[in-house]
Amino acid sequence: MIPYLMQVFGNQSRAFEIMEVLAGIKPVARMIIPEHLQKGVENYCTSNKIAFCWGAAVGSSSSGGYSSKGYLIPREQNKQTSQLFYASLTKEDADRAAFLEQRQDHLGLGNVLGYPSCCCSFFKKHHQQEEQKNNDFVLPAFDNTVGDTAPFPMNIFGRYFDFPTLSHCPCSFHCNESLKMAERRLQLIHEDDPRVSRSMEIHLRTLAVYSDKGIFLFKGTYAAGRFRYTSFMVDQSSPIVQQLHENGTLTLKDHHVVGIMEGKDARGMVFE
Ligand SMILES: [Zn+2]
Repeated sequence: MIPYLMQVFGNQSRAFEIMEVLAGIKPVARMIIPEHLQKGVENYCTSNKIAFCWGAAVGSSSSGGYSSKGYLIPREQNKQTSQLFYASLTKEDADRAAFLEQRQDHLGLGNVLGYPSCCCSFFKKHHQQEEQKNNDFVLPAFDNTVGDTAPFPMNIFGRYFDFPTLSHCPCSFHCNESLKMAERRLQLIHEDDPRVSRSMEIHLRTLAVYSDKGIFLFKGTYAAGRFRYTSFMVDQSSPIVQQLHENGTLTLKDHHVVGIMEGKDARGMVFE
């Protein structure tokens, strides 16, 4: 199912969302659909009895081919753009999600999308401050997390490489409700295609570093605050790639990366 859904929806992130709707796990999926996919997406949903509705036109960031944020732009300014899309097993829920988003009722929208209530409150609390910045809620999630390690399904940084386990930013990397959701998604993927879930696990059991020089996933081993890596992935061309290739070790202190990335406000979490 996954390869076909990727053809229709364009990437794994959207494919996983639709699988969850079809499985009855997710009440409503909210996604941004580029114009060239819109007709095919509509056809797929109609023939598979998925109710849907379209929302506002959206401009999105180009980072890594995936946007965790999206900002609304007046529709008349750009007719050739992406559009918000809500899919559900019931038309009522899809319409309700669109309505709540239009009203900017973030708490209501989070509930309709099936996000844990702790994470909806977290979103509401930090929404205003995040709107001025990256709008991805990652730094407050770090601030709410004690320790440098978390279970690998909680590696939300996989989303920048099209390996998303969650559709929302959790209130902390130890949020229990979010962990259950991420595990459920991985199980669903495993049942469809074990090679995909295995590949995700390999990419997500990493040290994730979030910095203004890029988002990194480092493969390696962690002991006593030091992470020794053999390889890494980055979501954009980064000026410190060469330095990182020569380095081989990163040091974490209270989930701040010290040493090579110091002063760049780099945060890191080891997902195991
Ligand atoms: Zn939570």
